Amino acid sequence: MCGFCKDCMKETETKLYHSELILNTKNISKSEGLGSKVELCLECYEKMVISEQIEYWKVHILEEKNRSMR
Ligand SMILES: [Zn+2]
Repeated sequence: MCGFCKDCMKETETKLYHSELILNTKNISKSEGLGSKVELCLECYEKMVISEQIEYWKVHILEEKNRSMR
């Protein structure tokens, strides 16, 4: 499989990354119609997954903090 990485602008083996999957889990109905996929090489794909997971946990931890403060 050969594609084009949108991040490092190289022609290489790619994966389709669903950028809205993790960040907009609360707005699934909103993001459904958009279905924006980003073509990324395996390296950038991994980076994106990791950075989104970090973002997800940051939000999650913040929510937990807010909940325990009430
Ligand atoms: Zn790349």
